[in-house]
Amino acid sequence: MSELSRDVRYIKGIGEQRAKALAKLDIHTLRDLLTWFPRKYDDRRVAKRIADLQPGETACVEALVAAPPTLSHIRRGLDLVKLRAVDESGILDVTFFNQSWLKNNLQPGETYIFYGTAEGNLLRRQMANPVVEPAGRREFTGRIVPVYPLTAGISQLILSRSMRQGLDACRDILPDILPDDLRMRHSLCRIGYAYENIHFPDSPEALDIARRRLAFEELFLFTIGLKRLRSRRETVYVTPYSHVDMTPFYAALPFTLTGAQRRSIDEAIANMSSGRPMNRLCQGDVGSGKTMVAAACVYFTVRNGRQAALMAPTEILAQQHYAGLAPLLENMGIRCALLTGSTTAKTKRSICAQLLSGEIDFAIGTHALISEGVEYANLGLVVTDEQHRFGVAQRSALSAKGHTPHMLVMSATPIPRTLALILYGDLDVSVIDELPPGRQPVDTFAVSGSYRPRLYNFIRKLAAEGRQAYIVCSLVTENEDAPDERKAVTEYTKALQTGALSDLRVACVHGKMKAKEKEAVMTAFAAHEIDVLVSTTVIEVGVDVPNAAVMVIENAEHFGLSQLHQLRGRVGRGKHKSYCVLVSDNKNEDTRARLKIMTQTGDGFRIAEEDLRLRGPGDFFGVRQHGLPGLRIADLGCDTRLLQEAQTAAEELLAADPDLDGCPAVRERVAALFTQNANTLN
Ligand code: ADP
Ligand code: MG
Repeated sequence: MSELSRDVRYIKGIGEQRAKALAKLDIHTLRDLLTWFPRKYDDRRVAKRIADLQPGETACVEALVAAPPTLSHIRRGLDLVKLRAVDESGILDVTFFNQSWLKNNLQPGETYIFYGTAEGNLLRRQMANPVVEPAGRREFTGRIVPVYPLTAGISQLILSRSMRQGLDACRDILPDILPDDLRMRHSLCRIGYAYENIHFPDSPEALDIARRRLAFEELFLFTIGLKRLRSRRETVYVTPYSHVDMTPFYAALPFTLTGAQRRSIDEAIANMSSGRPMNRLCQGDVGSGKTMVAAACVYFTVRNGRQAALMAPTEILAQQHYAGLAPLLENMGIRCALLTGSTTAKTKRSICAQLLSGEIDFAIGTHALISEGVEYANLGLVVTDEQHRFGVAQRSALSAKGHTPHMLVMSATPIPRTLALILYGDLDVSVIDELPPGRQPVDTFAVSGSYRPRLYNFIRKLAAEGRQAYIVCSLVTENEDAPDERKAVTEYTKALQTGALSDLRVACVHGKMKAKEKEAVMTAFAAHEIDVLVSTTVIEVGVDVPNAAVMVIENAEHFGLSQLHQLRGRVGRGKHKSYCVLVSDNKNEDTRARLKIMTQTGDGFRIAEEDLRLRGPGDFFGVRQHGLPGLRIADLGCDTRLLQEAQTAAEELLAADPDLDGCPAVRERVAALFTQNANTLN
């Protein structure tokens, strides 16, 4: 244990400078170092014959240095070492830039392994800057070599040498937290073997065995953590809410709720009537009508004499929720207030006073709702919208303001089942799997930049019919060096205003604008004073302008599928036929395939599955912001079977030993895993 907690400076070759660089990767101790896992591996086990090297191929050759290497100074700052290497099949000319020491290091008549990319042609083979080491050393060649994620000041060489030392120091004293019988039952290798082979695998099979063990352990600990949180929650008692006649609420709505909306509401009401704190995720595709589920829960809560709060990730969204919900709920005698960053100090003081006295029943806002000095008389329900945008701390700060308020989390990110199991193992989930009637699918096209003139004509034609359009660009910059000026929202807008769409009202909104300015533009767009809104992804979540019928996404390859789906969800919200156009000049096959999926399906769940499959969970929209304790090895896209196995094992262990008295090491690791997250998932 103590060995593992040692500072990385303990390792030879790691001084102040490198320790600082490693700190950027959050590597401070030997333990941190050993859990810095390779990003991939290079299989350098087999050496090829020189004659078999194909130009462009990256491989090892084992060859004899035929003559003393030569060193030449090409110019200041550029030294060149050249040598000729031979094997029984042919000749390889090798050059090294700025590694003049190799001139004396590489001995004529000795055999070395060179690992690099073959250049030249079949008659004259060359290699520039290969990795080189004496044959038989097997440090960087002749084996499977780890490739680590790096940072400035730390090279692969330094990192893998340090790893080697770290492993040698600790491998045999690594504590095995899995009980032996469990380890055997699930055919898991010992921890020392696992660490050795995840870093320096002896063979692909050994790597698999190591990876399986480490992934199992992660999933196992994580599941135990979630289950313990849940059982703790189940022991908390809150006053059950009483029955409320919901008829007046339903009757006041301008439409009939869908079956899925009603079911979600009923499920939430059952939770709040149970005497246990609700912790429910309401998941529904964009446009599925989650807001009304929230509104029903607010109504139910307020009729029970408690206050409710709804927290949105952006000012615009909070504003829009307020505009949509306040008139409806005020009509039912529910007193609403909007509290955001741009609320004036005076208004804020008055709202705070009324929240504290209980005169306000329902507060809608941004994180201002949880800022210092905002207190509630009897907060009973907290709804967070599009929760992937919220940090852990914010969500728990809000729940700390009530006496264990009920929590309803609304998410438009359809989470694939495997991921949901992990992310929300602790939450109850309602799925709104039905769209309000009359929605037409959004016709989606993937096109190249050459299509733009036609696209602008199309927008003009729809504008003439009274529709509006969004154009999303992927970054804001006034930087002259921007590689593609279309990326710059402001420039793009100017270009449209003076060029292709000069006859339309074009405006832009981006993240660098002041909240007030953004709001003004969004309000103008909603009021149809603007025909075309150019924006960054600020509009991504939740904004509702039913008259908008076109969504154009420039540089669509920059976005994940789930994000594209979210963006597309901004249109097709009204009765008009709507379109989504993905513009990309990227010819990459994977990119084309990804965009094609968008044109083929409107099913958010399917898209999410594809996204997970293509990008992996690490990249999956928002996973990090969920406060998910890092899964470094387990791949939720692929390790479904292992996840089930780990879950079963966790259940068995907890059934036999609920407090983990028999395995304090497991308990400790679980606790560590959840320290920063305990509040989020409670
Ligand atoms: P999201 O799930 O994306 O938050 P919203 O709650 O914003 O969806 O609802 C999208 C649109 O559909 C809104 O304009 C809303 O008024 C409307 N809507 C919600 N429920 C229904 C329904 N049952 N029938 C018809 N329209 C509905
Ligand atoms: Mg919404």
